[in-house]
Amino acid sequence: MSVSRAEACRRWLNALCEYMDGELDEELCAELERHLAECAPCTTMLETMRHTVALYRRWGRAELPEEMLQRLKSIVHSHLSSDTEASTA
Ligand SMILES: [Zn+2]
Repeated sequence: MSVSRAEACRRWLNALCEYMDGELDEELCAELERHLAECAPCTTMLETMRHTVALYRRWGRAELPEEMLQRLKSIVHSHLSSDTEASTA
């Protein structure tokens, strides 16, 4: 295993936004969906983002503020933290 699960999750977190907007490559979509199938934190992240985006759209705002994204990411990172302690720079 060259890439830890936490490392993979961190990469996917950045792709989740594009995925939600339907802007992610088909190939990456399939890979992401495979990851989601076995990764609860990322699934939770996606669900939370979807709900939040739906609310924002209802309020007439198309995009999530950066602050909200950071908050969502930190939620997932806290789920992963047992894995990532060592790699924090
Ligand atoms: Zn994950």
